[in-house]
Amino acid sequence: MTSPLTDLNPFEIASELGLKPFQGKQIFRWLHARRVFDPEAMTDLSKALRERMRATCVFAQLRQEHVMQSARTGAKKILFRLLDDETVESVLLRDRDRVTLCLSTQVGCALGCAFCATGQSGFVRNLRAGEIVEQALHLLEGEEIAGRTPNIVYMGMGEPFQNYESVMRSLRLLMDPDGLGIGARKITVSTAGDIPGIERFAREDLQVRLSISLHAADDELRSRLVPLNQRYPLRRLFEAIRRYISLTGRHVSFEWVLLKGVNDSARDAHALARLIAGLNATVNLIPYNPVEGRGFASPGAAAVAAFRQILAEDGVKTTQRRERGQDIDAACGQLRAHHAGP
Ligand code: SAH
Ligand code: SF4
Repeated sequence: MTSPLTDLNPFEIASELGLKPFQGKQIFRWLHARRVFDPEAMTDLSKALRERMRATCVFAQLRQEHVMQSARTGAKKILFRLLDDETVESVLLRDRDRVTLCLSTQVGCALGCAFCATGQSGFVRNLRAGEIVEQALHLLEGEEIAGRTPNIVYMGMGEPFQNYESVMRSLRLLMDPDGLGIGARKITVSTAGDIPGIERFAREDLQVRLSISLHAADDELRSRLVPLNQRYPLRRLFEAIRRYISLTGRHVSFEWVLLKGVNDSARDAHALARLIAGLNATVNLIPYNPVEGRGFASPGAAAVAAFRQILAEDGVKTTQRRERGQDIDAACGQLRAHHAGP
């Protein structure tokens, strides 16, 4: 056995273990639908198979090391220990009866955005598909999800398109009807503007949503905030986004983290509106969650409302991320690796 079981779809589980397809499905259901990782508890498998699996297979790749719950918002953040002792964090956010899972795709991130906690820690390694999916499985432990499947956002630690293969595999595993069966439209992948990734993603046979972290409407400021902009400047990025929209017929969203005195003025709002005019797009405004030592601050509620008002007047549709979970540092974009343990 080479691959951990949670990296594999039902067909691959059957083929790796030399089983019939229906047995691959049974095992996949235990892991992904019932979230059972102990072979002893997989009671519809023969004793001989359970013993063979126990001797040869890796079941869970993540160990829940530390759970933080926000008493105020019900948000939950989990620190996971990986098999090689690295760590990642993931978050469950609640908004009325809707649950959103924020998943990490890498340990750290190589892109070093100026305001981001993850970027501070540098890049350690890519996550495997099973390590991404298991975050969702563990976050949903003990949650009553019947009838209202969660939303999933790839907005935790890491740049999804710099771990392209594993991210695509994880999307298909999350969508598998024998597992969590999450609808593609309930999943959003967020990129800092990785053009090759956007171009590949446009050709995938997936209805998963795409979000682009923009934060600035001119190259000078954007290169300062998102250094990847030096490699993929706005003109080329928008060519890729236009091609994506025309090829897929899909809508995109732009994330704009509002940083006080940096990108929150009326001028910034008008420039943003001009940049995305005519695109099938909405802007998701995110009040900054301050990260110590980065030198940025969050604008007040009035400044956020004013920014939003200008965009509305310029014909731009906006959504605003509600602030949920700051009290446990659990907002997306605020996750970091804890190398020193909990
Ligand atoms: N690497 C990808 C996805 C992970 S970051 C990307 O950059 O898009 C997810 C979102 O959180 C991005 O829009 C990012 O800019 C934002 N973010 C990062 N740090 C943040 C912070 N401290 N407060 C609010 N949003 C933040
Ligand atoms: Fe990486 Fe996204 Fe953070 Fe930038 S904002 S450093 S791309 S995780």
